[in-house]
Amino acid sequence: MERIEIPGGATYSPVALTDLMLGAPLASRVLLGATLPGQVASTALFALYLGSAAADWLARLGVRPIDFREEFDADVDQLEAMPLDAREWEVRLLARALNEDYTDERIERKQLARMVNDRLTEYVSGITGQQIVTSSEVRSFNFAKLVFPFAAGTCDVVSGDVAIFQDNGVWEPHVIAHEFCHRKGYLKELYAQVVAFLAMRSSGHPVLVQGARVERFHRQLAVLCGGDEVRYLELVETACLRKELDEPFRKMRPASGSESRVGSAMRSLYDQRMKMTGQNGLSDYDEGFTNFLWTFQRSSRARQPKAHAAV
Ligand SMILES: [Zn+2]
Repeated sequence: MERIEIPGGATYSPVALTDLMLGAPLASRVLLGATLPGQVASTALFALYLGSAAADWLARLGVRPIDFREEFDADVDQLEAMPLDAREWEVRLLARALNEDYTDERIERKQLARMVNDRLTEYVSGITGQQIVTSSEVRSFNFAKLVFPFAAGTCDVVSGDVAIFQDNGVWEPHVIAHEFCHRKGYLKELYAQVVAFLAMRSSGHPVLVQGARVERFHRQLAVLCGGDEVRYLELVETACLRKELDEPFRKMRPASGSESRVGSAMRSLYDQRMKMTGQNGLSDYDEGFTNFLWTFQRSSRARQPKAHAAV
């Protein structure tokens, strides 16, 4: 099989190069004033950042991306709306599957990141016939955390640098898989959601399968409650999840009215940015994602063995 290695040099830097690049001009102005050494330092950091990304983008030229329409009969602009009763039915199926197959196994982040990355590489190569080898490095801080307080993680689209800001518990495999999909070149949120889910769901590993299911379940609840915290908690209550899952799901309730003004302003800016880049907006994370799986499940292609769109 064809193998393409993306060097991902930026991901091994002790500090995110994006932060250095953005922070350097400010720091050099404060520390050195508008002097020549300050300007040289910030230019050098900018060149380092772009240089590390250039090698990656050169390697990416040979990548054959998944053709979602061809493979799944679904795409950003080809989604069939999932009916309400089908959503409610799926919530029941997922709750039962989560309860029955629950595992309390936790895998330390570094090892989990390697497992998730290997599985993604394997899943994508099963479709495109290319092994896209990327780094499994994850950092726990970058400045984006301050700008996007609602995000569980980020991936810098230029350098492929991934940061995961907190311990995401049972969601951790999905959060890592989602960001790693961006690193592998799937920049649209819907694609990252779908590829992460399908790869983890079909992995056969209980921790990864559970990660995929909790994400799908949570996204269904998000659509059904429409941002209403009380309705969300009612849905969790009705799902009768076992204690170990009930608690984290209650904590993940939508922040009706309690989000900071900066947080909600950034959220709406982010929604606009998504719409300007050929996506449907923030709804691609939940409504789009669940509609995609619904559209795919109902198509003839879902009967292929690599489909794994089942709950
Ligand atoms: Zn994303």
